[in-house]
Amino acid sequence: MRAAAPAVLYRSAAQMPSMEVVNSGISSCLWLVSTMRLPPPAVVLAAAASDDRYVTGAGTELAGDALRHLSSGIPHQSRKENLLSTVIDVGGIKVSALNDGEVHLPPMYYPGLDFGAHPELLQADGTYHIPVGCFLIQTEGLTVLVDAGLGPSTISFPGDIASAAGLTDPPESIAAGGLLPGALAAAGVAPTDITTVFLTHLHADHIGWVAPGGVLFFPNAVVICGAVEWQTPPIAPAPGELEGRMGLAVAKAAGVLRLVDAATVELAPGVSAHHSPGHTPGHYVVSVSSNGENAYLLGDTVHHPLQLNDKGISFLSETDPERALRAREELLTALEGRNVSIGMIHFPGLDFQRIATANGRKWTTAR
Ligand SMILES: [Zn+2]
Repeated sequence: MRAAAPAVLYRSAAQMPSMEVVNSGISSCLWLVSTMRLPPPAVVLAAAASDDRYVTGAGTELAGDALRHLSSGIPHQSRKENLLSTVIDVGGIKVSALNDGEVHLPPMYYPGLDFGAHPELLQADGTYHIPVGCFLIQTEGLTVLVDAGLGPSTISFPGDIASAAGLTDPPESIAAGGLLPGALAAAGVAPTDITTVFLTHLHADHIGWVAPGGVLFFPNAVVICGAVEWQTPPIAPAPGELEGRMGLAVAKAAGVLRLVDAATVELAPGVSAHHSPGHTPGHYVVSVSSNGENAYLLGDTVHHPLQLNDKGISFLSETDPERALRAREELLTALEGRNVSIGMIHFPGLDFQRIATANGRKWTTAR
């Protein structure tokens, strides 16, 4: 077979110059991988589709090559700096917040948030910096990772977003991942120890370590996500999302992707996922209960601390902002005033919080 070389991801067939899609039974090509050196017409591959079909035969080999080339420029080593790890004990179940990296968002990503009234939120580059968290749950015999970070990639700050946001000196990247392996090692956990990867939803900053470069990063884990997330891929994917979705296609092809649609799904004894749509249609939150103690991991239902008391703040990539608000308020109301540790994946510091209700709702650090 001809060597595949510098691979390029295209978002649609129309973008691909003088190439022809070799369609091996795939009805809808959602992600197209093309190898630039291959002359037309022997060209194109598609990986994964909403109907669960895949490129087969030579296509699969080509896809593998293309994925390897895609990942070849990406450093897989983890950086040691900025490793965050907050650990709590929930009735004998250990829950750790681990950081994979950082996202740099212009104010427009938080419709309704008056950054003018909160200038302290913005860095000198004009963006709001948030971590890309994951949660590790260690219980007898099972090690569950909730969300899989951005992966070993750095996504340059898109010029069109900088112009739209009026940023004259934007940060180099809009998102940078890669810290999770180091954070896991610091927690004494190897990728082979992970038995379950549960994805609250399939945005790029939650799926990056499933199979970076087409190789399963957690070789012994089943990967679980909401079926509707898988079945409705993004029409206008955010940067990094296509690569992450390809990792999921690899998990699917390896037979380790489990799609769920129940309102509640048990992930381990005392650990359950609960459907909480709005941010995305198949978004889930996770509860941990043991010996009378409780924790909740809210995924992206709460994206900013100020949403605790301001119902007017949403997040740009929410597929259904009204439903997201309903889901958020239901959860915040259910958790307020209770002795429940709450983990939010994008809260600066990644500390577990509680909601006090003495004089209105207030976040307090859970210890
Ligand atoms: Zn997120």
